[in-house]
Amino acid sequence: MRKYVLMGVQGSGKGTQAAMLAHDLDITQISVGEIFRWHVQNHTKLGAQVRRVMAAGELVGDDLVESVVHTRIEEHDWNFGFVIDGFPRNRRQAEFFLESYDLDAVVHLDLPDDEVRRRVLARRLCSVCGVDYNLMAHRPAVEGRCDVCGGALVTREDDTEEALTARLRDYHDKTDPVLDLFRRKEFVVTVDARPEPTEVQGTIRAELGLPPYGQTGEAQGTRRITRRASNDASAPV
Ligand code: AMP
Repeated sequence: MRKYVLMGVQGSGKGTQAAMLAHDLDITQISVGEIFRWHVQNHTKLGAQVRRVMAAGELVGDDLVESVVHTRIEEHDWNFGFVIDGFPRNRRQAEFFLESYDLDAVVHLDLPDDEVRRRVLARRLCSVCGVDYNLMAHRPAVEGRCDVCGGALVTREDDTEEALTARLRDYHDKTDPVLDLFRRKEFVVTVDARPEPTEVQGTIRAELGLPPYGQTGEAQGTRRITRRASNDASAPV
């Protein structure tokens, strides 16, 4: 049983790294942002509650987030463990988490703000299967279309200059203190998020004392991982 938390500023690759860990180690990926996006896209009641807050790049209220995370974890579909990304994002969420669950490690993906801007503003997402693209580093073969399923590529509603500025401010004000709290109570590793994804994953593995990527579970090679699929079970909360 392995329980990890992945923390990092927007665009640091939390979702990508969490998906690689989850797929390779056969643990469940829980991405709070993806759960909310699913609800917005599917026009659920919860989606209507969080849509405006998300689009502005602000944080959803703690009570709501905690109940979503609690409900998701209580599904107990994680026989071999879980990796959670995008949570906790402030001190109260961290305390809720520390009271309820034992963690093996917290992975902090470190990325300078100027690199965050560069990455986030070039980010696109498949509207159908959720695969990420980056117009600089990972362009689709056909412009505006997903290589995996042909779906239309869209910009996340919160990937704008204004929303990004709000999110960066929030991150430094609220999430940095979470790292300080975790450092006192948990095993925290900080990893440079600037290299390409497989190299970052390699460093995470080494820091956590895990076998190199692709030598455990199903993941032989580096095939693309559809992030949304790993959160499907969680969708209706
Ligand atoms: P992410 O995909 O992790 O960047 O999350 C997208 C958006 O979902 C955030 O900008 C917030 O509006 C909301 N969100 C995700 N996780 C949390 C959280 N732990 N606390 C509050 N809001 C969250």
